[in-house]
Amino acid sequence: MYLRCIECGHTHPPTLRYACAACGGILRVEGESGLAPPPGLPPGMWRHAARLGVTDPGAIVSLGEGETPLLRAPHLEAAIPGFRGELWLKDETRNPSGSFKDRAISAGISKAIELGARGVVCASSGNAGASVAAYAARAGLGAIIIVPAHTPDGKVTQIAAHGAVLLKVPGHYSRSYDLAAALAERHGYANLTTTFINPWAVDGLKLVGPEIRAQLGGRVPDLVLVPTGSGPLVEGVARGFAAEGFAGAAGPRLVAVQAEGCAPIVRAFEAGAERVEAWGMPDTIASGISDPLIGYERDGTHTLRLVRQSGGTAVAVSDDALRGAMRLLARRAGLYAEPTGASPIAALPALLARGLVPEGAVVVCLITGHGFKDGRAYQEMPARIHPVPEPGDLAAVARLCESALAEKD
Ligand SMILES: *Cc1c(COP(=O)(O)O)cnc(C)c1O
Ligand SMILES: [Zn+2]
Repeated sequence: MYLRCIECGHTHPPTLRYACAACGGILRVEGESGLAPPPGLPPGMWRHAARLGVTDPGAIVSLGEGETPLLRAPHLEAAIPGFRGELWLKDETRNPSGSFKDRAISAGISKAIELGARGVVCASSGNAGASVAAYAARAGLGAIIIVPAHTPDGKVTQIAAHGAVLLKVPGHYSRSYDLAAALAERHGYANLTTTFINPWAVDGLKLVGPEIRAQLGGRVPDLVLVPTGSGPLVEGVARGFAAEGFAGAAGPRLVAVQAEGCAPIVRAFEAGAERVEAWGMPDTIASGISDPLIGYERDGTHTLRLVRQSGGTAVAVSDDALRGAMRLLARRAGLYAEPTGASPIAALPALLARGLVPEGAVVVCLITGHGFKDGRAYQEMPARIHPVPEPGDLAAVARLCESALAEKD
């Protein structure tokens, strides 16, 4: 195993390194450990330990991440005008801390421990921080988590509950990113920020593709819709299919979904640009993808290339569309997602309008984060809640239920 720069090809030994020594480019893990699945771990992605980067089984920190369900959603299909394909939901809310970040953090913290890290630091829009806090607690390591001051309460509470040191920094996420990089250096802590900065963490996302293909009985989906911040999850999906022989245009078309209030990759895609430019101040309810990429625009450029190589596209969705998608997921598919997690559903009408979802298309939406983390948007939705001051009057309660059930939801 070694680290290779995706820009200049320079190779480095397999250590904790965050950028190419020659050009500053993004590093990628090449090779696999070949490790036999260690006994005693909970079910999940370490079943495929051989494909990941950890060579010392004693270093693995797992809470049972990965191997999440892929659910067909017939009632949701019927509720989307013009949709005549198969809609599948990859339910990443089921990961231990409630988002797909657990895949990257389990891989990244395990490798950091193998390489002798004394503690971990992470800049996060909330979910990566919650994941790092949980895995550091499980490993008995100190954790410093840095989040933007406007991070949703549910995520802040979750991080604090695990005992991490939590630093709230005013302004956009990129400021937290810079502070994390500086603190990691000063303390000798591993940086588990989940942009493309830690190649061992990003490497942990590549099993998503093979899981989807196995769950579809060996079929490759036509489209995979990915909520996209800087894009490690897009790369994970692309790499996973490539590893099984479905690289670039032979793999699924990848759709990067962003929020209209923070859409640097969509803007570059639509302009036909080669490079992604940083966004200003994000303004959206989708906290999980509010990443303006200031100072690491190259991450977005890399993701843009992956999307183009797949023959895919990039779509921005409004906050209203996100609320509508959350409602549909909750009421037509039984899934409770945070705004970001519902963004692929919000993107479907735009893809249909562009003719990208032909009849019979197999469409996979990655539902990346749990509704428990940020329930505010649901609280503003009309709900069928009724006070029952006299529960003894069964006939009246039954009448109430009958009329409430008959209302359109
Ligand atoms: C971090 C996050 C994303 C974005 O993932 P990237 O790999 O950074 O592009 C999407 N959804 C949720 C819920 C997230 O927490
Ligand atoms: Zn390089």
